[in-house]
Amino acid sequence: MRRDTTVTALRPADHVIVDADGVEHGYDRLLLATGSRPRTLPGFDGPGVHMLRTLDNALVLREKLTEGSRVVIVGSGWIGCEVASAARAHVTMVDPVPLPLRNVLGDRVGSVFRDLHADHGVTLRLGVRARGTRADGRAVLLEDGGELPADVVVVGAGAVPRTELAEAAGLDLAAGGIAVDAALRTSAPDVYAAGDVAAHDHPRHEGRVRVEHWSNAKDQGTHVAGNLLGGHDAYGADPYFFSDQYDLGCEYRGLADPAHDELVLRGDPDSREFLAFWLRDGRVTAALNVNLWDHGDALTALVGTRARVSARQLAEADLNTLTTAGAADRR
Ligand SMILES: Cc1cc2nc3c(=O)[nH]c(=O)nc-3n(C[C@H](O)[C@H](O)[C@H](O)COP(=O)(O)OP(=O)(O)OC[C@H]3O[C@@H](n4cnc5c(N)ncnc54)[C@H](O)[C@@H]3O)c2cc1C
Repeated sequence: MRRDTTVTALRPADHVIVDADGVEHGYDRLLLATGSRPRTLPGFDGPGVHMLRTLDNALVLREKLTEGSRVVIVGSGWIGCEVASAARAHVTMVDPVPLPLRNVLGDRVGSVFRDLHADHGVTLRLGVRARGTRADGRAVLLEDGGELPADVVVVGAGAVPRTELAEAAGLDLAAGGIAVDAALRTSAPDVYAAGDVAAHDHPRHEGRVRVEHWSNAKDQGTHVAGNLLGGHDAYGADPYFFSDQYDLGCEYRGLADPAHDELVLRGDPDSREFLAFWLRDGRVTAALNVNLWDHGDALTALVGTRARVSARQLAEADLNTLTTAGAADRR
């Protein structure tokens, strides 16, 4: 274990990596698990601007999110929403999209999160882009000419995979990450990639799948260990993550395209106790449970088996029977 050591070069032809001190390390097989870094935004580089990726980032931020402080959060994705819900402060969330989490959850479910944050006192400035902090760092400037006073600014604008090593070594890239086949092998012999950085040729999803979730990093890590030791097994688990915001807890399984997949709701979203499904060609691409915790296995099975189901069945039928009933039809 070499702590505080940065790898600066990879030479796949020689089976060697080089660290920042110029020391070469040979390998038989190599795993690139370099993860991602927070996306920076132009105009947001002053001392009052915070990112959230590391434990140190979190500890610094915790001291700042105190009662009475004015916090502006740039970005209404998962990081932005979770920081907003954790802050005991006056919070303003700003994002050019019209609804929080819209890219992942679509308009209807995104509106549940908008109302949740509004009900907890967050000021939402949606549909407008933030263009930077004021010269004195005490406000966030908006493209519509507005200014949001700020003691603390948190930028939660997504993550960028750390592909530099792979790129410089000439490995294939895809979907912003390092291209890997179903068994998590990169284009270079004996080099594998897993976690946030891996753009995976998933056996059951279309196109490249790059997942920025903890469970994916953990499960791909375990899986790739077997392949590093000589296995050739495809990694086939579906993405999974959870989020807790105020008194709303949710889990998401699968990978939907909310702009195109059909949304099916079970229960009233405004009650904040409901299930949401996304359907494509009669199969569930993703399922979300909000403040309901009894259906986990059924939802995992529905997403995982790709059983054929109808919107009506999802809304009304006993979910446990659907995968058994649809099991015969998994073309
Ligand atoms: C604030 C926050 C909250 C999150 N919450 C959730 C959540 O609730 N649920 C969830 O599922 N996911 C969550 N995630 C995402 C989750 O943390 C990531 O998907 C996961 O950490 C990815 O793991 P990884 O091992 O691929 O990469 P990382 O955890 O990014 O680890 C990569 C490591 O590689 C090191 N490294 C990079 N380049 C080099 C180099 N050249 N030489 C040596 N070392 C290098 C880095 O220093 C780092 O230690 C959250 C992320 C953040 C930032």
